[in-house]
Amino acid sequence: MDGILPLLYLLASVTFVLGIKLLGSPKSARLGNLIAAAGMSVAIIGTMFLYKHNGKPLHNLEWIIAALIVGGVAGWIMAMRVKMTSMPQMVSFFNGMGGGCAALISILEYTSATQSAMPVSIGHALAMMAGLIIGGVSLSGSIIAYLKLEDRLSDIRFGGQQFVNNGLLVLTVMVGVLLVTGSLSGLPMLYLLAALAVLFGVLFVLPIGGADMPVVISLLNSFTGVAAACGGFLYDNMVMLIGGILVGSAGTILTVVMCNSMNRSLLNVLIGNFGSSAGGGGSSTGGSYREVTAADAAVMMAYANRVVIVPGYGLAVAQAQHVCHQLEHELETKGVSVLYAIHPVAGRMPGHMNVLLAEADVAYDKLIEMEEINADFPTTDVVLVVGANDVVNPAAKTDPTSPIYGMPILDAELARQVVIMKRSMKAGYAGIDNELFYRPNAAMLFGDAKASLSSLVNEVKSL
Ligand code: NDP
Repeated sequence: MDGILPLLYLLASVTFVLGIKLLGSPKSARLGNLIAAAGMSVAIIGTMFLYKHNGKPLHNLEWIIAALIVGGVAGWIMAMRVKMTSMPQMVSFFNGMGGGCAALISILEYTSATQSAMPVSIGHALAMMAGLIIGGVSLSGSIIAYLKLEDRLSDIRFGGQQFVNNGLLVLTVMVGVLLVTGSLSGLPMLYLLAALAVLFGVLFVLPIGGADMPVVISLLNSFTGVAAACGGFLYDNMVMLIGGILVGSAGTILTVVMCNSMNRSLLNVLIGNFGSSAGGGGSSTGGSYREVTAADAAVMMAYANRVVIVPGYGLAVAQAQHVCHQLEHELETKGVSVLYAIHPVAGRMPGHMNVLLAEADVAYDKLIEMEEINADFPTTDVVLVVGANDVVNPAAKTDPTSPIYGMPILDAELARQVVIMKRSMKAGYAGIDNELFYRPNAAMLFGDAKASLSSLVNEVKSL
């Protein structure tokens, strides 16, 4: 029986890698999630019944099963109830719990090492302290991120904040190093380290603009992965080590990809000077704009050869994905070719638009990534922008003073006609005006996206 557990761990590790690979496309993401979850279940059940410590099986099985039931049921209820727009906060909450678990592992291991008076190797001490610091930061940082996304906490900034944060980070690392080398020891010192890490997590996330939270969550996610990998190292448990490393590296890659797509450095996000209520710089365009009615927009689209829909955050807010799919269907029955242009950071989390449109059964092959669809805009008759703003702002190409300058955008302005659906002339996430709205080929269709799309569907049907 001894060889079976490592084999199960190997199998589980393969499912994690396969799961991440399948998560790369909306078509296979659900399957990828299920495969990785099945692998995780195999690893947990295998550990519960086959793991032996000094020749003895695990005890306290009833506690483990009770915790699995409580955690599983709570997670299931939360996942079933969550709205698509609240997904980032749920990810943040779950991530914080992972960080907290990793920190607890370090505390438990240190406690049992002190009680048994067994010498602890430098490597183990390092893994314990790193797991405690990183897990603690991830726990409190994720909870602050969760509260901000829930609008229960606003950005808190004060003079010298970076100085205080950097000082606290140095102090935390120093206490950790002294605990590793043995210059400091004992449980009170360990609790001090835990408190410093938790405090740093709070202060580090507090100044960051609420709208930047997805990037921060992704970063904290990678922290949790690294903290879990430290736990895997402590327990000499391969599947935990591999799982932690995969989460850590996937989170880091995602953070970098998001920053690149917004053309911002991670430092710029972490210092918290963008996407806040103060808004960014950049010129204010102003000027006059044209308005259209749903009836006019319906005529434009129904007699077009190709319509490209650009979904954005407002589509998610209005929960207009189903009626958007309906409009696509109505236009197609009139012989119009309809595609969706997907910007990598449209919405408020990576893949937001893909998930939303997949929920409404929009065919995956109609979702065209930015690099590919940009070449098609000059030959597109009508672009329908649904609750998107920054991702179609030409200032990213033309205005070097704009905070989004250099951010790759969808070249919607090159189409023959552009219809923009939003509720007002208000700015989007970056807090800046959009010169597209004032172009001669652009027209505004004001109103809630769901209501406007429903009117469009009715108008197109009646033509
Ligand atoms: P924006 O935030 O730029 O614009 C969304 C627009 O939707 C607003 O201007 C708003 O205008 C409109 N809107 C809101 N609610 C409704 C509604 N009910 N009906 C109709 N319109 C509505 O979103 P984009 O998707 O264009 O851009 C995403 C932004 O988020 C980018 O700046 C990106 O960098 C940033 N971001 C994205 C992340 C990601 O991972 N995807 C992560 C972090 C940041 P109005 O109020 O007038 O209706």
